[in-house]
Amino acid sequence: MTVPVAVVGGGLAGSELALQLAGRGVPVTLIEMRPGATTPAHGTGLLAELVCSNSLKSDDAETASGLLKRELRMVGCRLLEAAERTRVPAGHALAVDRTLFAQAVTDLVEREPLVDLARREQTDLDLPPVAAIATGPLSSELLSSAIARHFGEEHLHFYDAISISVSAEALDGEAGFWGSRYGKGGDDYWNIPIDRERYERLVAFLRAAPVIERRGFEDARCFERCLPVEVIASRGEDALRFGPLKPKGLADPRTGREPHAVLQLRRETRDGALMGLVGFQTRLARDAQRELLNVLPGFREPAILRWGAVHRNTFLDAPRLLDGAQMSTRRRGLFFAGQITGVEGYMESIAHGTIAALNVERFIRGREPLLFPPETLLGALQRHCAGGGGPYQPMNVNFGLLPELSARRIERKRLYAERSLASLRRFLDGCGIEPKS
Ligand SMILES: Cc1cc2nc3c(=O)[nH]c(=O)nc-3n(C[C@H](O)[C@H](O)[C@H](O)COP(=O)(O)OP(=O)(O)OC[C@H]3O[C@@H](n4cnc5c(N)ncnc54)[C@H](O)[C@@H]3O)c2cc1C
Repeated sequence: MTVPVAVVGGGLAGSELALQLAGRGVPVTLIEMRPGATTPAHGTGLLAELVCSNSLKSDDAETASGLLKRELRMVGCRLLEAAERTRVPAGHALAVDRTLFAQAVTDLVEREPLVDLARREQTDLDLPPVAAIATGPLSSELLSSAIARHFGEEHLHFYDAISISVSAEALDGEAGFWGSRYGKGGDDYWNIPIDRERYERLVAFLRAAPVIERRGFEDARCFERCLPVEVIASRGEDALRFGPLKPKGLADPRTGREPHAVLQLRRETRDGALMGLVGFQTRLARDAQRELLNVLPGFREPAILRWGAVHRNTFLDAPRLLDGAQMSTRRRGLFFAGQITGVEGYMESIAHGTIAALNVERFIRGREPLLFPPETLLGALQRHCAGGGGPYQPMNVNFGLLPELSARRIERKRLYAERSLASLRRFLDGCGIEPKS
């Protein structure tokens, strides 16, 4: 009997990897440490828990996130199917009820006869001959040390921040309006207009409010797309108005004008009981977070259900440590997948799990790794992990990662999407993989 492949980490990448391998007839032991041990951001024992926003971003093919979803549908991504079954209204974004989503993935894994789910912390690299590590940005300390010893060098660390979520009952129903930016996507966001005076008070508050100090935080590098609001506020009086509080395309239907600034909230559960402040990541102290809801307009009470927080983000210097199939250059058969390799984002981590599964299977069958075409975002993710010039940094997918197209600006995104999907279809046909959409 063949030894099952060990997949360590039942998060987004690891759950996808395990389900994909099982779907290809490869037995898997999926090792997940929760709920016995946990991370600073996870709150349940469910697999594939989304630790912050409930949005998997745009589903519009003319955006990079939307195109990645189209590509993933074509290769038969299992977690994307689960997301579609548990979606909540969010305009052109694919947002999910995070509990229903994680429960759906957990059910899929538990019902899969070829996956044995082992609930324990993996503390070393004493693993079967073929294994994949997908323990994410919050990999446990012991395993992180084992990985650092394996590669003989230190991981890179930096910090991200989590946004605040409140009870829907905390919202003053008179203080805002439902709608989406430029009317794209119906009434999916609760928008609270902020006038100039309130805005200035908010900026002053954020600049002075106490933050939770972390040793070494000052030296830490924040990921630019996930900056805490107080850091944004410190960068300039208008920085928030050009960032998370952007009023563009959000005219207040009661006045017909765009307000000075707008705070948006999005449903985080299907029943709308939990509402997330969009882009309001913070490392403010808890008392200051409560006070923040008094400084902001539109809240009857500071009923915070999920606190903003700062967290660790650990990733490998993949271009120097892994080969094109995401396998350790120091041990054949030891693969890495998901955010620990320096892809960034929920969908990117899921996509990376899909790619890793294909290459683990090919390794087992003694075949060359699959390298997706450069015109596809799946290929772009692989190439990102293989590195270019300069220091290696986590990266969300974006059209800038694709080979340039000479076309009129207005048509370019559509053409990127068409080229990518045509190229992926040809590639899958050539590899004998049946496109699923
Ligand atoms: C706090 C935070 C907020 C984020 N917010 C967003 C966001 O809003 N939007 C977005 O697109 N991306 C966000 N990200 C980035 C990223 O998309 C997610 O972290 C994503 O979950 C990464 O997927 P993954 O599968 O690589 O890791 P995870 O989903 O974190 O899965 C790793 C799994 O490994 C388990 N594990 C860890 N160590 C061990 C061990 N030693 N043994 C066994 N199991 C172990 C963990 O319990 C976990 O279940 C955020 C990241 C963090 C940390």
